[in-house]
Order: sequence, then structure tokens, then C-alpha cells
Amino acid sequence: MRQWRMQTFADYALPAPLLQAVEALDYHQPTPIQAATLPSMLQRQDVIAQAKTGSGKTAAFGLALLSTLQADESRLQALVLCPTRELADQVAKEIRALARFIPNIKILSLCGGIPIRAQLSSLGHEPHIVVGTPGRIEDLLKRKALDLSALRCVVLDEADRMLDMGFIDPIRKILQHAPSARNTWMFSATYPDDIRQISTEFQRTPQNIRITDQHDASVIDQCLFEAEPDEKMDRLTALLLQRAPPACLVFCNTRNDARSVAAELTRRGIIARELHGELDQRDRDETVVQFANGSCPVLVATDVAARGLDIKNLPMVVAYELPNDPAVHIHRIGRTGRAGDSGHAYSLVSQRERPRIAKIDALLETPLRWAPPPTATRATPHPPRMRTLIIDAGRRDKLRPGDILGALTGVGGLSGDDVGKIDIFATRSYAAVARERAKTTLQNLREAKIKGRKFRVRML
Ligand code: AMP
Repeated sequence: MRQWRMQTFADYALPAPLLQAVEALDYHQPTPIQAATLPSMLQRQDVIAQAKTGSGKTAAFGLALLSTLQADESRLQALVLCPTRELADQVAKEIRALARFIPNIKILSLCGGIPIRAQLSSLGHEPHIVVGTPGRIEDLLKRKALDLSALRCVVLDEADRMLDMGFIDPIRKILQHAPSARNTWMFSATYPDDIRQISTEFQRTPQNIRITDQHDASVIDQCLFEAEPDEKMDRLTALLLQRAPPACLVFCNTRNDARSVAAELTRRGIIARELHGELDQRDRDETVVQFANGSCPVLVATDVAARGLDIKNLPMVVAYELPNDPAVHIHRIGRTGRAGDSGHAYSLVSQRERPRIAKIDALLETPLRWAPPPTATRATPHPPRMRTLIIDAGRRDKLRPGDILGALTGVGGLSGDDVGKIDIFATRSYAAVARERAKTTLQNLREAKIKGRKFRVRML
């Protein structure tokens, strides 16, 4: 029998603080995409890699760009472009975690949907790394607030999505500002023609890396249910009531569908929220926070909006309708059954959508199977385990998770187990607390001080 020696991060020429960070994060072994891309990136070669969310691609390019950084040189050296603000925030967070043992690294996230003035002032002191969305970065370049002349590398994350969203021109303009002696690393779930074109225009003899078996099909239970458009809502309701998943992402092809499905589920007593590009930033933040912290079990989203979600171990995803592009479907399925956990992926398929199945099948190792559709049930909706409290104070008030946890367990009277995720934004914070304790906690917190000050607290 052939013996494989397990690869470790120590096999790569990574600086000691990065090895230390990887260990602290409990990353014991590189994921396939990391093992395939890191050696080339560390040798300063351009890379175009096929990688999905969940593959560990962020840490792959994060480690590579941090390895090339000169921390004592206060210039912008690495730029990561992402399609959405959620993804950019997530990427910035992961890079920060990887950089935590390198002193004095400044990482900025610069995205649209946030007043530009604050960003302009944060650029007074040049960051080492910027993670942002193309439109806003282009805008900041026009205002001469960003200087790309010292860039060592540019990452195009979810490049296909950025092109889908019409970011091709901003990306071209941005790359024209970058020095030619830089690396360009592209990560994309699919390879349409315009990706190849961007690669030809902006990369130098890139290494082409494809990993196909990122999701072990055996851990994802995938099946199709027949459902004509007028039956879909009942089937979805039955499925959610029967399975009562603690978290379920429902994919719709359009914003309108996402909106109406979420509204109808809510009307039927199932707590659900919508996520799509038409929401304002605050609504999007609150939706994502509530889904991630266990106060809203069902999220109905468009594919683009769902991209930036970093929610591990989703037990269930539902395609309310099949997408036209089979690669999009593979991406949907990939949101569940990650990292060896099992997951369920269900699709509601009408007669009209049937021709799309063959194209999806062609991309899968195990053929799709049909199952009898779920039928109406007497079950009543399970209330979610948590509720979200919102506190009108955040990073700008120097509030940290520990301060909120302290208030909740001190005057709030909660035990640590009753407190869930705490999310801190610039001017607001959200804390998940056990549903049955939420009302009393809210009352207690209203009377209490956090970090010696009284802030407005409400329940979402
Ligand atoms: P991504 O594909 O970048 O969205 O990463 C998916 C998740 O995998 C993230 O939450 C990472 O923190 C995690 N991750 C990345 N690399 C590793 C690794 N080598 N071992 C375990 N988890 C990892």
C-alpha cells in the first residue's frame, strides 16, 4: 500500500509568525486548494485557481500575500478585490487572523455602501493591505486617496462573480494603476470566457490550478423534488416543518422571488429573512447577523448575495428553483456538507426546469436522484434558539465583545451558555441570547451600564 505523508504548513516556506497563526487557528493540514496554490504563489508566480467558497482559498492567498509583505514599509503592498462587502469583510477578518503575530500590520476593508469620508480619513496612514470592492477602490483611486505604486500582489477573489456583477471596467482601471512587476492571483468558481480574457490581459504565464473534488459527494445528501411553480411554496413549507433545520439557506434565482418567498414563509409562521442586492447595507448586516447567530433559521437569498456568507456547517440548503448555469447549482450545493460534516441539498424542480438537470448531472460524480416530494404536515414551526439584542454602540465607542459579554453575564444575569455570537460594527453591536432569557436580559441591560456608559438597547 502506498503511504502518503500528510502535508503540513511547515512544508512551505512560510515565515514563523504565519506558522504560529495557522497553529493558533487550528489549521492542522492544508486544504487541497492551499496545497495546490501555495507553492506557486510563494515562488511569486501568477496563479489562476478554480476554488469555491469553503475550499480554504482565503487562507491560501492570505498566507501568500502576508509572506511577501514588508511590515516595516508603510506602503500599500497587497490589494484584494471581492464582489461584495460581506465577502470583503470576511476576507479582511481572515487575513487579520492570519496576521495576528506580525506586529503593526494595517489591514483596511474599503467597500461601497459606507460613507467615503470615513474611508478617506482612515487612509491618512497608509495601510499594508486593502480588501475592497472594485467600484469603491476605483473611486478612491480617482480621488488619489490610494496609491498602488508599491503593490506586490493583487488578488481577484470570486473573479467570475465580479465580472457577473459588471465590475470588469473598474477591475481593468484598477489593474492599470498597479505596477507591472506584481503578482496577480485569480480565484474563481467558474471559468467563463471573460475570465480567460482578464487572465490573458493581466497575468504573466499563470499556473492554472483546478481542484474538482473539494466536496465529497458522499457527505451531501442531494435530491430533487417535483414541484410546479404553484406547488413550490407548500413543498418548501412542508420540508422546513418536517426537517426543522437549525439553519437553512434557500436559493432563489431572482430578487423578487427571494422577497416573496421570505414574506410568504413569515406569513406561515416560519421565521425567515431575505438577502439580496436591493437591501440597504444595514438590513443586510442585520439579516446576516441574525442568520449566523441562530435567531433566524431560514435565509432566502439570491446567489450573488449568498456568496459572501461565511457560515460553516450549513445543515441544509434548498434550491427553490434551478439556476440556468449548472456551475451556480454546484456552488449552492457546496454551501452544505463542508469539512466532512453531512449536509442536505434539496431542489424543487418544475417541468420547465427539467432540461437544466442534465447539465448539472454532467458536473457531478454521483447522479442526482429524485425523491417523493414532502407533503403537508401538522408540525408547527420551531422557534429559533436565540434572539438578537441590538446595542447602539460599537467599535467607535471602543466596545469589544468582552465588554458586552461582561454586561450580559453580570447585570444581565445570563450564564455564558445563554450568550451566543456577539457582532460588533462601527456604531452598533448585536448579541445573541437564549430566546427564553431574552426579555429579562433586555430589561436588565436597559438599566445597566456597559463600560461605564448607558447605551440604547433593543430587541431585533
Ligand atoms: P474559504 O474557502 O476561504 O471561505 O474558507 C472556508 C473556511 O475554512 C474558513 O472558515 C477558514 O477559516 C477555514 N479554513 C481555511 N483553511 C483551513 C485549514 N487548512 N484547515 C481547516 N480550516 C481551514
